[in-house]
Amino acid sequence: TKPTSSTSTKQAATTAGSSNVFHNSTLQDPHTVVAADRHHLILANGQRVLDATGGAAVACIGQSDQRVKQAIAEQLDKVQYCHALFFGNTPSEELANELIDSTGGKMAKVFIVSSGSEAMEAAMKLTRQYFVELSQPQRTQFIARHESYHGITLGALSMGGHKFRRELFKPMLLNNISHVSPCNPYRGKHDGESDEAYVARLARELDDEFQRLGPENVCAFVAEPVVGAALGCVPSVPGYFRAVKSVCDKYGALLIMDEVMCGMGRTGTLHAWQQEDGVVPDIQTIGKGLGAGYMPIAAVMANQKVVDAFNNGTGSFRHGQTYQGHAIASAAALAVQRIIKSDGLLPRAQHLGNILSSVLIERLASHPFVGNIRGRGLFWGIEFVADKKTKEPFDLKEKISMAVHDRGLSTKWNISLFPGTGTADGYKGDHILLAPPYTLTDEEMLD
Ligand code: PLP
Repeated sequence: TKPTSSTSTKQAATTAGSSNVFHNSTLQDPHTVVAADRHHLILANGQRVLDATGGAAVACIGQSDQRVKQAIAEQLDKVQYCHALFFGNTPSEELANELIDSTGGKMAKVFIVSSGSEAMEAAMKLTRQYFVELSQPQRTQFIARHESYHGITLGALSMGGHKFRRELFKPMLLNNISHVSPCNPYRGKHDGESDEAYVARLARELDDEFQRLGPENVCAFVAEPVVGAALGCVPSVPGYFRAVKSVCDKYGALLIMDEVMCGMGRTGTLHAWQQEDGVVPDIQTIGKGLGAGYMPIAAVMANQKVVDAFNNGTGSFRHGQTYQGHAIASAAALAVQRIIKSDGLLPRAQHLGNILSSVLIERLASHPFVGNIRGRGLFWGIEFVADKKTKEPFDLKEKISMAVHDRGLSTKWNISLFPGTGTADGYKGDHILLAPPYTLTDEEMLD
């Protein structure tokens, strides 16, 4: 029988199929986490597990930081909620200031929402309205990339090129989105091809896609600076973003960078684009590490060019949500961002990333089923192959991925194994993604 009282819910973790929560995991009854202790999750069975994926690149400052708890408590004592359509609130104003400062003024305004998917939805609408303000309403076509993930709501899912996630929900809600190749040198580069030639080929493909759609119809190109969940921590090769930005500029389209997963310090700089050779997006989405899991919060930021079009036109962004700019979530995120700064966590993330990458390469690179180890900062992925030479994908299937999850738990590491994205020709590309907190000790990393 199903548990109905709170006293019996603990058993939900151990009795197969008994949970009343509509889980989206193939683990019908995942372990219940009853407490957390800095970098460890404590399961209902008493086991302590190091959170090596930081949730999914979320828990960047570890759990239970007193300063964040205090910021939340203080805000609770002031005001919990007011509707953003009628009022502003101090924490969201301060958070916006902090975020704009962190871009060195390259971004001009911040729109605060509750999740990365909402941030992507908002970025899409911001882009569409931008072109309406410029009297170019026909610019409705987005170009994104295959093997990408931009969120789970139907608009954001249409933007992503993640076949595995899209499969069940076809046809996609939006049909004004097309996809070009990602920058994934392990899979995409031809034998002997230089970085320059690879980048030029990808830029040509993008240019051709603009031509196919009619450049006057394209509003934006959307890409993650370091591909997260879909490919497993794949940074672009040098020069890629400069090349795609110049294609966007040539046709007057915007460049949107999705930093929901790779942003907020994960790759060693607060914004991943800060390592892209001076290339700055027009619109940027952030999430996950913004609130570090203390509160659900994400945001979309726009540069001055975009903001000017609104200022000279309608005056406001025709979008809004009940929990937009939430006071407590903003207070938590502000505290998190101040901690990242005051505790020197960006160099710390880079330091830990150096340790992690050298350990992974030293211990795993020669393994017959490890095809590629790649990443940046404290954001690393391991792609499995059935054959190292042919790079034949190792399709681990979700069942095995969950077995790995359980095995990970038994070895006291919460690691996440992501099924690959799949493409038209059936490529899977299963990988493990490692994204531990920036606050880990060297000993915990090496344990
Ligand atoms: N964009 C990227 C790049 C992501 O990695 C994710 C989540 O993994 C999202 C958007 C969606 O964020 P959320 O799960 O908070 O809705």
